[in-house]
Amino acid sequence: MQPVFRFAPSPNGPLHLGHAFSALLNADLAKGANGRLLVRIDDIDRERCRPEFEAAIVEDCEWLGLNFERPVRRQTDHLHEYGNALDRLRELGLAYPAFMSRAEIARGVDADERNGRSWPRDPDGSPIYPGDDRSLAVAEANARIEAGAPHAIRLDVARAIALAGPLTWREFRSDTFDEVEPIRAEPGQWGDVVLAGRDTTASYHLAVVIDDTAQDISHVVRGHDLQAATSIHRLLQTLLGLAEPVYHHHRLILDDEGRKLAKSDDDVGMAALRQNGFTSADIRRIVGLPV
Ligand code: GLU
Repeated sequence: MQPVFRFAPSPNGPLHLGHAFSALLNADLAKGANGRLLVRIDDIDRERCRPEFEAAIVEDCEWLGLNFERPVRRQTDHLHEYGNALDRLRELGLAYPAFMSRAEIARGVDADERNGRSWPRDPDGSPIYPGDDRSLAVAEANARIEAGAPHAIRLDVARAIALAGPLTWREFRSDTFDEVEPIRAEPGQWGDVVLAGRDTTASYHLAVVIDDTAQDISHVVRGHDLQAATSIHRLLQTLLGLAEPVYHHHRLILDDEGRKLAKSDDDVGMAALRQNGFTSADIRRIVGLPV
Protein backbone atom coordinates (compact mmCIF):
# COMPACT_ATOMS: atom_id res chain seq x y z
CA MET A 1 0.00 0.00 0.00
CA GLN A 2 1.13 3.52 -0.75
CA PRO A 3 2.45 5.24 2.42
CA VAL A 4 0.36 8.16 3.69
CA PHE A 5 1.84 11.11 5.62
CA ARG A 6 0.10 14.08 7.22
CA PHE A 7 0.85 17.54 8.51
CA ALA A 8 -1.81 18.39 11.12
CA PRO A 9 -1.53 21.94 12.46
CA SER A 10 -4.05 23.56 14.80
CA PRO A 11 -5.46 26.84 13.46
CA ASN A 12 -5.02 28.63 16.78
CA GLY A 13 -2.34 30.96 15.45
CA PRO A 14 -0.16 31.57 12.42
CA LEU A 15 2.41 28.99 11.30
CA HIS A 16 6.03 29.58 12.25
CA LEU A 17 9.36 28.08 11.23
CA GLY A 18 8.81 25.04 13.46
CA HIS A 19 5.60 24.17 11.60
CA ALA A 20 7.30 24.82 8.28
CA PHE A 21 10.00 22.30 9.20
CA SER A 22 7.40 19.70 10.17
CA ALA A 23 5.40 20.28 7.00
CA LEU A 24 8.44 20.17 4.73
CA LEU A 25 9.88 17.08 6.43
CA ASN A 26 6.55 15.29 5.93
CA ALA A 27 6.54 16.38 2.29
CA ASP A 28 10.13 15.21 1.73
CA LEU A 29 9.50 11.86 3.39
CA ALA A 30 6.27 11.34 1.44
CA LYS A 31 8.09 12.10 -1.78
CA GLY A 32 11.01 9.81 -0.89
CA ALA A 33 8.61 6.96 -0.10
CA ASN A 34 6.49 7.60 -3.19
CA GLY A 35 3.67 8.30 -0.77
CA ARG A 36 0.72 10.66 -0.37
CA LEU A 37 0.73 13.85 1.70
CA LEU A 38 -2.35 15.13 3.53
CA VAL A 39 -2.83 18.36 5.43
CA ARG A 40 -5.31 18.16 8.30
CA ILE A 41 -6.82 21.03 10.23
CA ASP A 42 -6.82 20.07 13.92
CA ASP A 43 -9.53 22.50 14.98
CA ILE A 44 -11.18 20.39 17.69
CA ASP A 45 -10.47 23.12 20.25
CA ARG A 46 -13.10 25.55 18.94
CA GLU A 47 -12.39 28.11 21.63
CA ARG A 48 -8.88 28.75 20.34
CA CYS A 49 -9.20 28.00 16.61
CA ARG A 50 -10.11 30.64 14.03
CA PRO A 51 -11.12 30.31 10.35
CA GLU A 52 -8.69 33.07 9.37
CA PHE A 53 -5.78 31.04 10.75
CA GLU A 54 -7.03 28.00 8.83
CA ALA A 55 -7.06 29.96 5.57
CA ALA A 56 -3.57 31.33 6.28
CA ILE A 57 -2.25 27.84 7.05
CA VAL A 58 -3.50 26.43 3.75
CA GLU A 59 -2.00 29.41 1.93
CA ASP A 60 1.35 28.97 3.70
CA CYS A 61 1.37 25.26 2.82
CA GLU A 62 0.81 26.15 -0.83
CA TRP A 63 3.52 28.80 -0.67
CA LEU A 64 5.95 26.28 0.83
CA GLY A 65 5.32 24.16 -2.26
CA LEU A 66 3.73 21.22 -0.47
CA ASN A 67 2.08 18.80 -2.81
CA PHE A 68 -0.93 17.89 -0.66
CA GLU A 69 -4.27 16.36 -1.51
CA ARG A 70 -7.62 18.13 -1.40
CA PRO A 71 -10.07 18.35 0.25
CA VAL A 72 -8.35 19.07 3.54
CA ARG A 73 -9.93 17.23 6.49
CA ARG A 74 -11.17 19.44 9.28
CA GLN A 75 -11.84 17.85 12.68
CA THR A 76 -15.01 19.84 13.37
CA ASP A 77 -16.61 18.15 10.32
CA HIS A 78 -16.28 14.77 12.05
CA LEU A 79 -17.58 15.32 15.56
CA HIS A 80 -19.98 12.37 15.39
CA GLU A 81 -17.06 10.00 14.77
CA TYR A 82 -15.38 11.15 17.99
CA GLY A 83 -18.71 10.93 19.83
CA ASN A 84 -19.12 7.29 18.72
CA ALA A 85 -15.64 6.42 19.97
CA LEU A 86 -16.37 8.09 23.28
CA ASP A 87 -19.59 6.07 23.64
CA ARG A 88 -17.62 2.90 22.96
CA LEU A 89 -15.11 3.70 25.72
CA ARG A 90 -17.95 4.45 28.12
CA GLU A 91 -19.64 1.15 27.24
CA LEU A 92 -16.37 -0.60 28.03
CA GLY A 93 -16.43 1.06 31.45
CA LEU A 94 -13.22 2.95 30.68
CA ALA A 95 -14.49 6.53 30.77
CA TYR A 96 -16.18 8.50 33.51
CA PRO A 97 -17.62 11.99 34.07
CA ALA A 98 -15.08 14.12 35.94
CA PHE A 99 -16.46 17.16 37.73
CA MET A 100 -13.36 18.85 39.11
CA SER A 101 -12.34 21.97 37.20
CA ARG A 102 -8.72 22.86 36.49
CA ALA A 103 -8.97 25.63 39.10
CA GLU A 104 -10.17 23.14 41.74
CA ILE A 105 -7.35 20.77 40.87
CA ALA A 106 -4.86 23.65 41.06
CA ARG A 107 -6.13 24.58 44.54
CA GLY A 108 -5.67 20.99 45.74
CA VAL A 109 -2.17 20.89 44.27
CA ASP A 110 -1.23 24.20 45.92
CA ALA A 111 -2.51 23.09 49.29
CA ASP A 112 -0.57 19.83 49.10
CA GLU A 113 2.61 21.44 47.86
CA ARG A 114 2.49 24.09 50.58
CA ASN A 115 2.49 21.22 53.02
CA GLY A 116 5.55 19.71 51.38
CA ARG A 117 3.70 16.94 49.54
CA SER A 118 4.58 16.84 45.87
CA TRP A 119 1.78 16.21 43.42
CA PRO A 120 2.45 13.90 40.45
CA ARG A 121 2.59 15.68 37.09
CA ASP A 122 2.10 14.43 33.56
CA PRO A 123 4.85 14.72 30.88
CA ASP A 124 3.55 18.21 29.97
CA GLY A 125 3.84 19.33 33.58
CA SER A 126 0.10 19.40 34.37
CA PRO A 127 -1.06 17.88 37.65
CA ILE A 128 -2.42 14.35 37.36
CA TYR A 129 -6.20 14.27 37.88
CA PRO A 130 -7.01 13.19 41.43
CA GLY A 131 -9.67 10.79 40.14
CA ASP A 132 -11.94 11.10 43.19
CA ASP A 133 -15.05 10.94 41.03
CA ARG A 134 -13.81 7.80 39.28
CA SER A 135 -15.62 5.82 41.94
CA LEU A 136 -18.72 8.01 42.04
CA ALA A 137 -21.91 5.94 41.85
CA VAL A 138 -23.49 6.12 38.37
CA ALA A 139 -26.78 7.40 39.82
CA GLU A 140 -25.01 10.24 41.63
CA ALA A 141 -22.95 11.19 38.59
CA ASN A 142 -26.11 11.20 36.47
CA ALA A 143 -27.96 13.34 39.00
CA ARG A 144 -25.14 15.90 38.96
CA ILE A 145 -25.11 15.95 35.16
CA GLU A 146 -28.88 16.41 35.07
CA ALA A 147 -28.53 19.27 37.53
CA GLY A 148 -26.24 20.92 35.00
CA ALA A 149 -22.86 20.34 36.70
CA PRO A 150 -20.07 21.06 34.20
CA HIS A 151 -17.92 18.01 33.60
CA ALA A 152 -15.35 16.48 31.31
CA ILE A 153 -15.10 12.82 30.33
CA ARG A 154 -11.85 11.22 31.42
CA LEU A 155 -10.18 7.89 30.69
CA ASP A 156 -9.80 5.50 33.61
CA VAL A 157 -6.19 4.92 32.62
CA ALA A 158 -5.44 2.15 35.14
CA ARG A 159 -8.40 0.09 33.93
CA ALA A 160 -7.56 0.82 30.32
CA ILE A 161 -3.96 -0.34 30.80
CA ALA A 162 -5.14 -3.49 32.57
CA LEU A 163 -7.36 -4.27 29.58
CA ALA A 164 -4.87 -3.37 26.86
CA GLY A 165 -1.76 -4.95 28.42
CA PRO A 166 1.82 -3.78 27.74
CA LEU A 167 2.18 -1.67 24.60
CA THR A 168 4.94 -0.35 22.39
CA TRP A 169 5.04 1.92 19.38
CA ARG A 170 7.37 1.72 16.41
CA GLU A 171 9.63 4.73 15.91
CA PHE A 172 11.42 5.09 12.58
CA ARG A 173 14.38 7.31 11.74
CA SER A 174 13.86 10.00 9.15
CA ASP A 175 16.67 8.69 6.96
CA THR A 176 15.49 5.12 6.80
CA PHE A 177 12.00 3.68 6.80
CA ASP A 178 13.16 0.11 7.24
CA GLU A 179 14.62 0.32 10.71
CA VAL A 180 11.97 0.73 13.33
CA GLU A 181 12.76 0.80 17.01
CA PRO A 182 10.10 -0.46 19.42
CA ILE A 183 9.53 2.03 22.24
CA ARG A 184 7.66 1.06 25.37
CA ALA A 185 4.46 3.07 25.78
CA GLU A 186 3.87 4.41 29.27
CA PRO A 187 0.33 5.77 29.23
CA GLY A 188 0.12 5.61 33.03
CA GLN A 189 2.33 8.68 33.32
CA TRP A 190 -0.54 10.80 31.95
CA GLY A 191 -3.07 9.80 34.58
CA ASP A 192 -6.76 9.97 33.67
CA VAL A 193 -6.51 12.10 30.51
CA VAL A 194 -9.46 14.11 29.20
CA LEU A 195 -11.32 12.39 26.36
CA ALA A 196 -13.96 15.10 25.96
CA GLY A 197 -13.69 18.50 27.60
CA ARG A 198 -16.35 20.65 29.21
CA ASP A 199 -16.89 22.42 25.90
CA THR A 200 -15.34 20.03 23.39
CA THR A 201 -16.69 16.82 21.87
CA ALA A 202 -13.26 15.24 21.93
CA SER A 203 -9.79 15.94 23.22
CA TYR A 204 -6.77 16.10 20.95
CA HIS A 205 -5.77 12.56 22.02
CA LEU A 206 -9.11 11.01 21.08
CA ALA A 207 -9.54 12.97 17.84
CA VAL A 208 -6.04 12.33 16.52
CA VAL A 209 -6.22 8.53 16.66
CA ILE A 210 -9.62 8.51 14.95
CA ASP A 211 -8.38 10.91 12.25
CA ASP A 212 -5.18 8.97 11.58
CA THR A 213 -7.18 5.76 11.08
CA ALA A 214 -9.89 7.47 9.01
CA GLN A 215 -7.23 8.92 6.72
CA ASP A 216 -5.19 5.68 6.46
CA ILE A 217 -2.12 7.44 7.84
CA SER A 218 0.78 4.99 7.76
CA HIS A 219 3.53 7.38 8.95
CA VAL A 220 3.02 9.98 11.68
CA VAL A 221 5.82 12.56 11.54
CA ARG A 222 5.54 15.25 14.20
CA GLY A 223 7.55 17.20 16.76
CA HIS A 224 9.44 15.68 19.63
CA ASP A 225 7.15 17.60 22.00
CA LEU A 226 4.41 15.10 21.10
CA GLN A 227 6.50 11.97 21.66
CA ALA A 228 5.15 11.34 25.18
CA ALA A 229 1.56 11.66 23.91
CA THR A 230 2.15 8.66 21.64
CA SER A 231 1.81 6.43 24.72
CA ILE A 232 -1.80 7.56 25.14
CA HIS A 233 -2.41 7.30 21.41
CA ARG A 234 -1.28 3.66 21.37
CA LEU A 235 -3.54 2.91 24.31
CA LEU A 236 -6.58 4.48 22.64
CA GLN A 237 -5.80 2.77 19.32
CA THR A 238 -5.68 -0.58 21.08
CA LEU A 239 -8.90 -0.06 23.06
CA LEU A 240 -10.80 1.13 19.99
CA GLY A 241 -9.32 -1.39 17.55
CA LEU A 242 -7.78 1.37 15.40
CA ALA A 243 -4.83 1.20 13.04
CA GLU A 244 -1.28 1.62 14.32
CA PRO A 245 0.92 3.86 12.18
CA VAL A 246 4.71 4.05 12.57
CA TYR A 247 6.02 7.24 14.16
CA HIS A 248 8.88 9.66 13.78
CA HIS A 249 9.23 12.46 16.32
CA HIS A 250 11.49 15.10 14.84
CA ARG A 251 13.80 17.67 16.41
CA LEU A 252 12.27 21.02 17.29
CA ILE A 253 13.30 24.35 15.84
CA LEU A 254 14.42 26.51 18.76
CA ASP A 255 14.87 30.25 19.14
CA ASP A 256 18.21 31.93 19.94
CA GLU A 257 17.72 31.21 23.63
CA GLY A 258 17.06 27.54 22.96
CA ARG A 259 13.33 27.76 23.59
CA LYS A 260 10.60 26.12 21.53
CA LEU A 261 9.07 28.60 19.06
CA ALA A 262 5.66 29.99 19.97
CA LYS A 263 2.81 31.11 17.74
CA SER A 264 3.24 34.60 19.19
CA ASP A 265 6.88 34.92 18.01
CA ASP A 266 6.18 37.19 15.04
CA ASP A 267 9.71 37.29 13.66
CA VAL A 268 9.70 33.55 12.94
CA GLY A 269 6.12 33.59 11.65
CA MET A 270 5.62 32.54 8.06
CA ALA A 271 3.75 35.74 7.24
CA ALA A 272 6.65 37.95 8.34
CA LEU A 273 9.21 35.79 6.56
CA ARG A 274 7.20 35.90 3.34
CA GLN A 275 6.75 39.66 3.58
CA ASN A 276 10.47 40.08 4.14
CA GLY A 277 11.19 38.39 0.84
CA PHE A 278 12.24 34.94 2.04
CA THR A 279 11.62 32.13 -0.43
CA SER A 280 10.58 28.59 0.29
CA ALA A 281 14.20 27.54 -0.45
CA ASP A 282 15.40 30.04 2.20
CA ILE A 283 13.02 28.45 4.70
CA ARG A 284 14.43 25.02 3.89
CA ARG A 285 17.95 26.31 4.47
CA ILE A 286 17.04 27.97 7.76
CA VAL A 287 15.45 24.81 9.17
CA GLY A 288 18.30 22.62 7.92
CA LEU A 289 16.62 20.69 5.12
CA PRO A 290 18.34 20.01 1.78
CA VAL A 291 17.42 22.58 -0.88
N1 GLU B 1 -2.40 19.53 15.97
C1 GLU B 1 -1.22 19.22 16.74
C2 GLU B 1 -0.40 20.48 16.91
O1 GLU B 1 -0.57 21.43 16.17
C3 GLU B 1 -0.36 18.17 16.09
C4 GLU B 1 -1.05 16.88 15.98
C5 GLU B 1 -0.18 15.73 15.59
O2 GLU B 1 0.70 15.87 14.75
O3 GLU B 1 -0.43 14.65 16.09
O4 GLU B 1 0.41 20.50 17.80
